[in-house]
Amino acid sequence: VWDHCLQFIKDNIQPQAYKTWFEPIRAVKLTDNSLSIQVPSKFFYEWLEEHYVKLLKVSLTKELGDGAKLVYIIRMENTYGNKKPFTEKIPSNNRPSVPSQELDVPLKNKNPELKNPFIIPGIRNVKIESQLNPNYSFDNFLEGDSNRLARSAGLAVASKPGGTSFNPLLIFGGVGLGKTHLAHAIGVDIKDKYPEKTVLYISAEKFTQQYIESVKKNTRNDFIHFYQLIDVLIIDDVQFFSGKSGTQDVFFHIFNHLHQNGKQVILTSDKAPVDMQDIEQRLLSRFKWGLSAELQSPDYETRISIVKNKLYRDGVEMPFEIVDYIAKNIKTNVRELEGAIISLIAQSSFNKKEVTLDLASQIVEKFVKNTKREVSIDYIQKIVSDYFQMDVSTLQSKTRKRHIVQARQLAMFFAKKYTKASLASIGSQIGKRDHATVLHACKTVDNLAETDKQFRKYIDDISKKLTL
Ligand code: ADP
Ligand code: MG
Repeated sequence: VWDHCLQFIKDNIQPQAYKTWFEPIRAVKLTDNSLSIQVPSKFFYEWLEEHYVKLLKVSLTKELGDGAKLVYIIRMENTYGNKKPFTEKIPSNNRPSVPSQELDVPLKNKNPELKNPFIIPGIRNVKIESQLNPNYSFDNFLEGDSNRLARSAGLAVASKPGGTSFNPLLIFGGVGLGKTHLAHAIGVDIKDKYPEKTVLYISAEKFTQQYIESVKKNTRNDFIHFYQLIDVLIIDDVQFFSGKSGTQDVFFHIFNHLHQNGKQVILTSDKAPVDMQDIEQRLLSRFKWGLSAELQSPDYETRISIVKNKLYRDGVEMPFEIVDYIAKNIKTNVRELEGAIISLIAQSSFNKKEVTLDLASQIVEKFVKNTKREVSIDYIQKIVSDYFQMDVSTLQSKTRKRHIVQARQLAMFFAKKYTKASLASIGSQIGKRDHATVLHACKTVDNLAETDKQFRKYIDDISKKLTL
């Protein structure tokens, strides 16, 4: 009977789904109109109930007639990973509190509320909900030179998930430049175009927590199974995987499975793959299979449209003078740009003040320090090389000696901080480097400033000299 059912099911679903969900099932007992099947875990059972209940019902009714019943028996994995029927493992006089005996579930009872000891808490929500924020759409992700490549790659992926060479699509860039927004936008668009696809957005941090939890609870296989079912997996901030070899390992397997089955993977990171540290080589090489697209700091035009769009969405009007002032002065980061507008709106409505240029400048000042004095890149290079007692030509040279590299990175950092020059232009002036190098330098300096006291002092000293 079960074989016939299986044949019918096989003809009606994707081969992959069949393989994953139906091949592991064993038929164990048939009495009158009731068939007992054994499934590997409770998670399995729930999944079948949720996704394939109709199919099961139809196939079983075909075989056994109208009153057909299906009984699930859940096998449990013991600690050694061998699968044994639950009943064999635990003597009946010593039943644990875990409710894992036969579940006699009528086929129409679709969503029995079961506490499932085999799955990671929260994972049931995850598998039903995409965890996407509908406010992060393509429509309000404004296009500019700084994001054109990433945005159009995102659109391409959204129109053919898994069907482009952008797999994985890795979006990288500094904080507040729109990585999370764009990643959601792709997911939202896919859900729109392909409602039947399972899309999941998850932060790398949460993924890691779930994984650790699954190891503790001995449900690592369920964890992997779950992720292997997803059609579009979006993992935000994968730099979080740095140094976490267990998580990297499990992600590697999930990634391979998804990729082989034509599923789409979308990743974001604050670094380009080449700059990622403590990530296994085999993972990095996977990241490079698809496309890595950078989000850069928005240019003036884009900043203007972002400000205007934000005001429009909030139903607020502001003179162009103000919009222009904000866009001119807040340059590095969209989050700060939005923050400045929000606080401007708040201030003006709170104090019932007109939005004046004066108010705008007070607020902008809080967001950016030291933007007033414009210094030249030449001047910065001179000050930095003097400080480290080297020539400007040494600073610009190709050498990889540590103290020279640091000085060069500091010069780039200050050039970004104190001038309006683009990353590309800073790079070309400081020893003919490209914009990615400059961006990397700025991030390195930011990091060191946080962790290295001596380095912090360099920054303070040079800052003082530059703004004197
Ligand atoms: P990241 O994840 O790179 O740190 P986010 O995606 O959180 O950055 O973006 C920060 C804020 O800036 C969000 O509110 C986002 O909506 C907004 N934002 C970023 N880029 C754009 C853009 N191109 N157009 C409109 N809003 C943007
Ligand atoms: Mg983010």
